[in-house]
Amino acid sequence: MKVYAEKLVETVVDKICDVCEESVMIELNGEKHEESGELSATFGYGSQEDGNVYHLDLCEECFKTAIYALRDKRRATLMFDEEKDLPDEKFGLDPKRSAI
Ligand SMILES: [Zn+2]
Repeated sequence: MKVYAEKLVETVVDKICDVCEESVMIELNGEKHEESGELSATFGYGSQEDGNVYHLDLCEECFKTAIYALRDKRRATLMFDEEKDLPDEKFGLDPKRSAI
């Protein structure tokens, strides 16, 4: 036998960028679409960050700022290595799951 009751359910109606505090929701044709990136990490034993968990929700602009900084670090790391190509504008893109 099933017993029914009304239940109050919380649902996500907006998501805010943890850096600039702008909404990551974009409204198109009357529908809201979440356009966001995430930066997260969990560190364990052996790390100086042992036990720390990081998570940032990022808007597209702030995500790009983070990925450009990482791409620049990668370029500086490889600058004098002639056997490896410097990362281009596709740095970080997953070719199997991207439209490009
Ligand atoms: Zn942002």
